[in-house]
This record gives sequence, C-alpha cells and structure tokens, in this order.
Amino acid sequence: MKLADRMSRLGTETAFVVLAKAKELEAQGREIIHLEIGEPDFDTPRNIIDKAIDALNNHWTHYGPAAGLPALRETIAREVSRFRDIKVGPENVVVTPGAKPIMFYAILALINEGDEVIYPNPGFPIYESVINFIGARPVPIRMREEKQFRLDVDELISLINPKTRMIIINSPENPTGSVLTNKDLEAIAEVSIKNDIYILADEIYSRLIYSGRHHSIASLPDMLERTIILDGYSKTYAMTGWRLGYGVMPRALADQVAKLQTNCNSCTASFSQIAGIEALTGDQSAVDKMVTEFKKRRDLIVAGLNDIEGISCLRPDGAFYVFPNVKSLGIASSRFESRLLSEAGIATLSGTSFGAFGEGYIRLSYANSIPNIEKALDKLRHFVESL
Ligand code: PLP
Repeated sequence: MKLADRMSRLGTETAFVVLAKAKELEAQGREIIHLEIGEPDFDTPRNIIDKAIDALNNHWTHYGPAAGLPALRETIAREVSRFRDIKVGPENVVVTPGAKPIMFYAILALINEGDEVIYPNPGFPIYESVINFIGARPVPIRMREEKQFRLDVDELISLINPKTRMIIINSPENPTGSVLTNKDLEAIAEVSIKNDIYILADEIYSRLIYSGRHHSIASLPDMLERTIILDGYSKTYAMTGWRLGYGVMPRALADQVAKLQTNCNSCTASFSQIAGIEALTGDQSAVDKMVTEFKKRRDLIVAGLNDIEGISCLRPDGAFYVFPNVKSLGIASSRFESRLLSEAGIATLSGTSFGAFGEGYIRLSYANSIPNIEKALDKLRHFVESL
C-alpha cells in the first residue's frame, strides 16, 4: 500500500509494544511483572463510577458540544484557577478524549512546517512524533541527570532562534519523575516572553507530587496568554480507559482547538464528562490515598535499585516512574529492556523509548503492588549478577 509521505514521520509509544510482547509471554504461561505501563494500578474511585452509571441511565449517551459540556468546562475552569492560582473561565477550556489530543491539536493549530519546537528528551515520545509529523523541526533539550533530570536554562537559551515557536515542558516528568523548580519556571517564562514563544505545559502528573506543591508556569506574570496547560483524569483519578482530559488556553486558540475536535472526534463521551464533574468536585480522599501509596513504593524501589551493584537511581519528586542509570552494566538500554523481559520476566522500557538522550537508562513504573515491586527487585538483582 502506498502511504502518504507524512506517515514515515509518525512515531509511537513503545510502552504499548512492550505490553503486547509481555502479554504474549504470559499467554505462553510465563509470569511477567509489569513495570512498563504508565497507568495507576488502582481502580477509578467508586463515586466517579456511580456518577457515570447514573449518567448512562439518564441518557447522557448522545453527542455534546465540541469543546465539552458547559458544566464540566466551568468546573474545570474553577478547579484549574484554584489549584494554580490563576483566573480562567470555561471559554478557555477544551475537553478531549484523554489529554493526548491537546498535544496534537495545540501543535497543529500553532506550528507551521519548518518552525522549531523544543521538547524534553528523554521525554514523552509523542511530542517528537507529532512535531515531526506536521513537518516542523523537533529540537530536543536534554533532561540532565546531574540536574535531577531537569533542563539547563542556558542550554535552552542556546537552542532558541527566530524559528522557535514553542517550548514543551512536562513537570512532573515522564519518564524521569523530575519536577521543575519555581526558579526553572521563571527562567523559562523569561525566555518565552522575550522571544515570543508559546509554552505547552504538560501538567498531567500535577497531582502526583511527593514533596512541596505543583507550580504552573501559567501562574507567572504574563504567561497565561502564551501557555497551553494540558491536564486530565487518566493519572490523578486512575481513569486511563475513560479517555477524559482537557486543555486550558487563550480563548482564540480554544476556539480553533474546538474546531479541530469537530473535525476529528466530534466531542468527548458525554457520560465520561458527567463523571468528570464528580471527580473534580467529589471526595478527593482516594487521590490522597493513592499519592501516599505511590510515595511508599517510590521509596522502596529507589532504595532497592540503589542496592544493586551497577545501578544508580535518583529519587524523583513526582509521577510514578523511576529512571535508573544502568550505564556501568555496559549493555545498551534497548538490549537491557528485551533481556529483562525474556530472561527475568520483568517488563520495563528502554530509556531510548523516550528519545536518544535516554540511552544508558531504563524506565520503571512503580504503579504496581509492593509485593510485585519487591519480587521484581529480587529478579533484577539476580539478572544483573548473572551478566
Ligand atoms: N502526557 C504525559 C507526559 C503522559 O505520560 C501521558 C500518558 O501517558 C499523557 C500526557 C496522556 O494521557 P491521557 O491521554 O491518557 O490523558
């Protein structure tokens, strides 16, 4: 089949590829511990599920407005304003099936062919994929281990040129769990204002922070008008399969993003949106419990990894990933990933799944139970000792 040229520029998320391989091994009777996939292992809280069932029984089964149900957009605007200490209204909010479309839509709406977009590397692979796909130039900014996997602002400045139209930031970050400091955000904001560059702030892990509180670049002076906040329900409320996310952006852009949605998805599932109101306004104790549990697991996995000769691991402040350094084992990350799966029965992701600067690292998701994490650490230690 003769595909359009642009398809050769589209990347993917290898987490789903590894998951499929792991499932294949399980079908053959192998026991696999899943540390590859980026989704909470908790159930969606009961109050949210009940609201969705009510919504289905009350006929929320039809199309809705492209930008989202007014009541949900209002709720999101209120919550985003409160949580980030900014002032946005429903007209700034577009609700999407998962937060991922916000990346696609924002880049499509703002970036021309030949423009440059700076994105974190190692970072969520879809940024680079979409930038390439639309014919723009992806410019990686290295997340440096010596800076706790944050970016170096001087390096960022050195990458800016008149073609730079957007900087993507992701804090807390996938895959490293790093959190940008207020000082980092201020410096990035200064670069953005001085050079008239948009910021796509991927804040999908903003509630999963283990010390301090989340800071949004949108809350810095003059930044609201040049920032697109991406957030959603997948991680905070363990709702990956519900496909519910949103973007918060200047109104002129929100109107265009809604138009893209009309062309693509029409709208987000209406009953998911009704449940989304409950998620934001109802009891938050399930989120707090999940965060407490993740923190315990983070401490366990970081200590366990650092106990293995040849592996070193920073203690990240957010998300549910660790990104240990395996350079001294002398084995390429992608080979390490495939051998860990086939020989030790542990599904992980090579650091290079998150860009070229991920070489020498692997990503482990600790969205798995403490007994499984303990078992995985044990198997990992044996595997490393056998190298
Ligand atoms: N942004 C980052 C950094 C992510 O890791 C993910 C999911 O893995 C998303 C966005 C997309 O989340 P969703 O589309 O499920 O809301």
